[in-house]
Amino acid sequence: MGRALANIVTLAYGTSANTLGRLFHWVGTRMKRREFVGGLAAAASVAACSREDPQCADGTAEPLETFEWSCVTSWPPKYPGLGIAVDNLAERVEKASDGRLKIKVYGGGELVPSLEVFDAVSRGTVEMGHDASYYHKGKVAAAQFFTAIPFGMNAAELDGWLYYGGGLELWRELYAPHHIVPLPCGNTGVQKGGWFNREINSVDDLKGLKIRIPGLGGEVILRAGATPVTMPGSEIYTSLQTGVVDAAEWVGAYNDVALGLHETARYYYYPGWQEPSAGLELLINDEAWASLPADLQAIVELAAQAATTDMLAEYTHGNAIALKQLEDDPNIEVRPFPDDVLRLLKSHTQDIVAELSAKDEMWKKIAESYYAFLDQSTPNQLVTEVANLQTRLL
Ligand code: CA
Repeated sequence: MGRALANIVTLAYGTSANTLGRLFHWVGTRMKRREFVGGLAAAASVAACSREDPQCADGTAEPLETFEWSCVTSWPPKYPGLGIAVDNLAERVEKASDGRLKIKVYGGGELVPSLEVFDAVSRGTVEMGHDASYYHKGKVAAAQFFTAIPFGMNAAELDGWLYYGGGLELWRELYAPHHIVPLPCGNTGVQKGGWFNREINSVDDLKGLKIRIPGLGGEVILRAGATPVTMPGSEIYTSLQTGVVDAAEWVGAYNDVALGLHETARYYYYPGWQEPSAGLELLINDEAWASLPADLQAIVELAAQAATTDMLAEYTHGNAIALKQLEDDPNIEVRPFPDDVLRLLKSHTQDIVAELSAKDEMWKKIAESYYAFLDQSTPNQLVTEVANLQTRLL
């Protein structure tokens, strides 16, 4: 087990030591020790078998149980960032578990339709899914806190809240009635405002705009007089090109160029007010999760956490290169939204959050925790990340 976990550390982090790497090492060391003294469930069952089970009277150990799971996603197969993260996770889990847990990943529509991942995992049709929680807002409104809230947390803050501020416990409480165990599994970082085939110079320019935008951002833009549409990434290019929508947000420069969206509209707006970061989720059917021995659960948890680090690294690198390509393209204008547009959208966001708190108990409970940390974090972000970035302009 120690060597298996060392493998996943090497796969995820190379040979460099960092906090998570040390965590893998610590868990690996602990597991090795526990395995040695028969502390692991699997090791314990083998020890009991050799003493009491007549079938094992010769003292030989039975082979450890193996698992073959299916993981459905809402992403195009092998898609940069979102899809690569879950492919890597499956590969790492199989290697780290020495083949005891194999996960076959399906792109959106290959096994179940995109945007129906939550139901498939909840019903137990599949054991696992990888998705964005705001796609299920119609069933579980408060799930949106775990992907993105407009004008909300950046990637580092979301991790801080989830792992140290009680966010993950609330997420598990929210999904428990749906028989799903959630794990954070990826973050795109701050997104872009999206592609527009007309200029946005004032709040009036939003009126009548048909725009692809999921989650709470869609409800916000509706109040600003636009018409939000939710559709999977694979449908955005054709919808923009044929005028089914006037505008679309997807992720950021790296993913948007991969979809060819820069060929469909002239104006590329920032910032991604609607998704200051976007956390992805690994959804696991609760019965399937309970069937895994503790060491395989630990491997899945660690691989999911590694996917979060990995995905942010991939986007940070890919976005920088893709944005330069877009800025150099004479057919594209990269522009900021006007301040009064952002002010209006922020005001609508605050109204919607308050209205949902008044009618949804879980929304209220999660919103209180989320904003308590966000309010604590903002002053620190201003004198650290923001102040530090400003020094690059000196
Ligand atoms: Ca988006």
